[in-house]
Amino acid sequence: MTTEHRGDPTAAGVPSADEVARALASDEFLLLYQPTIDLESNAFVGVEALIRWRHPALGLLGPDAFLPVLESSGQIVPVGAWVLATACRQGADWHTRGHRFAVSVNVSRRQLESPSLLGHVADSLEESRFDAGHLVLEFSERALARLGDAPSRLAALRATGVRLAIDDFGSDPASESLVASLPIDIVKIDRTCITGLASSSEDAERVHRLVQLGKSLHVQTVAQGIEDDDQRLRLLGEHVDVGQGFLFSVPHDVDAIDRFLEDYAIFSGKPL
Ligand code: C2E
Ligand code: MG
Repeated sequence: MTTEHRGDPTAAGVPSADEVARALASDEFLLLYQPTIDLESNAFVGVEALIRWRHPALGLLGPDAFLPVLESSGQIVPVGAWVLATACRQGADWHTRGHRFAVSVNVSRRQLESPSLLGHVADSLEESRFDAGHLVLEFSERALARLGDAPSRLAALRATGVRLAIDDFGSDPASESLVASLPIDIVKIDRTCITGLASSSEDAERVHRLVQLGKSLHVQTVAQGIEDDDQRLRLLGEHVDVGQGFLFSVPHDVDAIDRFLEDYAIFSGKPL
């Protein structure tokens, strides 16, 4: 795979509304998928879809290089609709081939505010025939904290049968109390809490508190950014349900995920 360009595309005049429309029309956006693993059983339980832009002049761009611009211009709404449609089609394809795992899609604050999000979710499910219960929508804790009518918007989305996750959970202690008031199914503990798990008792206590909060709300707990086995074992000790991170796999394109699925079934001895 090409090296990702982390530079600032706006410095090169990217992206105008026209360029985003052109990029969508000429298939320059792509999704990579990162596996999620059940920590207790080691079963492969899902993937998170992560957007990239294969820019004709700048090479492969990671989301940090272009999402903020799309978010402030509102172009994230049509691009997000493409992400939803593509991830649902891919999820349905995996299910047809017998791999019945969940597919998670990140949804930004601007998308959540948009009146068209509900329609985009419903259309993507209908067109792909992907099972709604296997689609997870991820919202950042900060986006939810800033949106007064977040509970009713989330409730309307959840009524379609999809599951909802709070992303970056624990990154903003001020908004932790928010989770109890939201109709959610999953909390994804922020990578910054996992990094210091082994070296800092403060981080270890924070993770313990976040996991217990998740358990008291009867939601699934996910730890992201697991990079070493020590972190995995500590999270297993905390009874975290699901793990994600470079220890298991970096984000991959579909072909590489298909190879990963074959290898993983042999390695873990788990049916997929
Ligand atoms: P996120 O939702 O928290 O996604 C996880 C990010 O952490 C990904 O970065 C992933 O590559 C990275 N990561 C996963 N495991 C590890 C690890 O073990 N160590 C380290 N250091 N990093 C790890 P990525 O792909 O650059 O995405 C960054 C953010 O961009 C995402 O954070 C998400 O907020 C946003 N994003 C990505 N795709 C989309 C999309 O389609 N739509 C929207 N609205 N946002 C997206
Ligand atoms: Mg996410």
